[in-house]
Parts: sequence; structure tokens; C-alpha cells
Amino acid sequence: MLKNKSCPCESGREYADCCAPWHDGAAATTPEQLMRSRYSAFVFGLHDYLLATWHATTRPEAMSDEEPVRWLGLKIKHAQAAGVNGEVEFIARYKIAGKAWKLHERSRFIYEEGRWYYLDGEMLNS
Ligand SMILES: [Zn+2]
Repeated sequence: MLKNKSCPCESGREYADCCAPWHDGAAATTPEQLMRSRYSAFVFGLHDYLLATWHATTRPEAMSDEEPVRWLGLKIKHAQAAGVNGEVEFIARYKIAGKAWKLHERSRFIYEEGRWYYLDGEMLNS
């Protein structure tokens, strides 16, 4: 992993000053930060991080590498937090086997014991 490269979450900052601290174990302070760090984790294939930031009630047992996804970019459309509930709407672009796709999702996040967790997401039409 190249820490001096621009962060894959497209914040415009270097990875070391963006998602790296969350990947290294610090607690993301907002749902948007967690969302960005999870996107970067998808790009880097950090399955342990993805599972660790997934809420226990909705977390899959494991993540597979079966589909070779190439992530192309992230755009955060809207992010908010109210109490222990957070919501982030985003569009992620990716390619599978050379074909481009777009994922437009509204994700829900929940704050528990000092950390935000990804709960679930609703697909939206672009
Ligand atoms: Zn980032």
C-alpha cells in the first residue's frame, strides 16, 4: 500500500492523511469518514477492516475475492449524523470483467461504544 499516494476515496488528500488512520485502528468520528474508509478498504481488499466496521447484526461471515471488482471512484452525495444514527448517500463506480457499473446507495450507520458501524444500505436509482 502506498501511503504517499492520493486516497482512493477521492477526498483529494493523501492516503496517509485520509483513510490510513482508520485502517490502522483509529475510530472514525463521522459516518462519512467511515464510509470513505470502507470504500478505500474495498479498493485495497482490506477484508478484515470491512468486517470489523460492519455491525454485528448485519455482518457477513466472511468476504470473498471471487468477483474481481475494479473500483473506479466514489462520490459522496449527502452525509448526516443525528445521535447514534448516521446516513450517507453515495455513488461508487466500478468495473467487473471490463464492464462499468454504478452503485448508488443510501447507507445506514450506527454509533456504538465509541465507534461508527455500517449497518445496511438501500439501493437508489441514479
Ligand atoms: Zn480517504
